[in-house]
Amino acid sequence: MDDDFAPHDDAKRAHDSRVTAQWAIMSDSPEGTGPIHIMGAGLSGLASAIILAKAGKEVHVHDIRADSGARFDGDFQALENWSMDVDFFQQLEEWGFDASEFRATEFQVVDLIHPDDVITQPKSDRVAYRIVERGTADHTIDQGMKRQAIAAGATIHYKSRVAEKDCTIIACGPKRTSAVAYGEIFKTSHPNHIAFQMNDKLAPGAYSYLIIVNGVGLICTCLWRKQSKSERFLNETIAWYEKHYPDLDRMPIKRVGGKGDFTINQRYKQDGRYYVGESGGLQDFMWGFGMRMAVWSGVLAAKDILGECDYETEVRKQLLPYVRTSVANRWLMNRVGDGMFKRMCRRWMKDQKKRGDGLVWIGKLFKPSWYKTLLYHLVTPFMLEKDPKAMGRGVRRMPFRKAKSRDVWEQSPEAEKIGKQWDEIRRGGGKISFANDSDDSSISSE
Ligand SMILES: Cc1cc2nc3c(=O)[nH]c(=O)nc-3n(C[C@H](O)[C@H](O)[C@H](O)COP(=O)(O)OP(=O)(O)OC[C@H]3O[C@@H](n4cnc5c(N)ncnc54)[C@H](O)[C@@H]3O)c2cc1C
Repeated sequence: MDDDFAPHDDAKRAHDSRVTAQWAIMSDSPEGTGPIHIMGAGLSGLASAIILAKAGKEVHVHDIRADSGARFDGDFQALENWSMDVDFFQQLEEWGFDASEFRATEFQVVDLIHPDDVITQPKSDRVAYRIVERGTADHTIDQGMKRQAIAAGATIHYKSRVAEKDCTIIACGPKRTSAVAYGEIFKTSHPNHIAFQMNDKLAPGAYSYLIIVNGVGLICTCLWRKQSKSERFLNETIAWYEKHYPDLDRMPIKRVGGKGDFTINQRYKQDGRYYVGESGGLQDFMWGFGMRMAVWSGVLAAKDILGECDYETEVRKQLLPYVRTSVANRWLMNRVGDGMFKRMCRRWMKDQKKRGDGLVWIGKLFKPSWYKTLLYHLVTPFMLEKDPKAMGRGVRRMPFRKAKSRDVWEQSPEAEKIGKQWDEIRRGGGKISFANDSDDSSISSE
């Protein structure tokens, strides 16, 4: 065995490796006893690694970046808790993960910002969602999962480039672009707060959000239509929040962002390889809440390798109904604008008044139903495009949609000022995390 693969102490297990070709990497069969190679040390890859290593398998995880979470580096993300009746943290516990290894801040309420700037508050007695940080700091979910993988005995090779054909589990996140998100991270004295805004001008086809946790804030806008001069959307969104949340007290630190890849696959396991997380298209087409499915699919792939289930069958049974529902929802979203967004917000609040729980309406939106399944089958031939480079897996991707004429507008003076403020911070060393992202062909740092 190559020295790079020898298990050393915990610190040494997660190390840099630029060695590629000389590694005799063999794609292991589930029945085999050889090492299992996983491509990608993100959420789905690490979830697989933890379960396999705990079961006594020799596991090697390879990541092209310098660390887990480096793709996001300081971004806040929401672990949704509404799409299923079971709490996600209960699922994590059942799968054997320790959620206390990372910081997760629970929320039961959100400011819902309607397209006409009315702000209402869906709320619940249950945990509606948990905010986690992505990145390389100790308290991030990425590092929490990485520590568990190393403790279980997995070896992680960073800055390591391996070929897809040489790995058993493919967990390397998005490949192409169906949508993007841009955000700014800032310091603030504002108390913890979350807002979710539906506004087709600021976030074309999608939504923007404000997250504040322990003195750090994030304002982010998501673009489900491809735009020129895309930074204006973030500047204008920040200007909107500054106006409506006057106590924000924003001191910008850095800008972050990334892309989402939304695909439907004919096969999730091909030639002995398991495609998990976003590499398998297991994402939420409507709004991009992909973390839950990433971990879940990583678990299922590991369980298949351990002979406890059949990955293809379980993905189709447990995850695909949600993905299909999200495709139907996305198709509907692509056809509407602020008028329908306003009606959605009103319906959400009306439902909360009736049931006394804001999670019921949003949960229903995400849960599979016969009419969403029917709609899915009717619309996918028109909505998705074949990916000829998917190694025979029958991948159909949602293309990044074109801009509409209403997406062409000039920034307000306030937004321009925010853009100039950022330019100065960047010149003084302010970081843009997606500028160094190897997947950034469609994410400019303007
Ligand atoms: C800006 C933004 C905000 C988001 N917000 C939310 C949210 O609030 N809630 C939510 O649930 N989801 C959110 N998502 C989606 C969520 O981040 C993803 O669905 C999830 O991280 C997918 O997990 P994964 O394991 O498939 O990929 P990742 O967690 O991205 O891990 C993939 C890993 O593979 C590595 N890699 C890439 N290429 C290679 C290669 N060739 N060889 C080896 N390694 C490679 C990468 O470096 C990375 O470490 C957001 C996404 C973005 C971009």
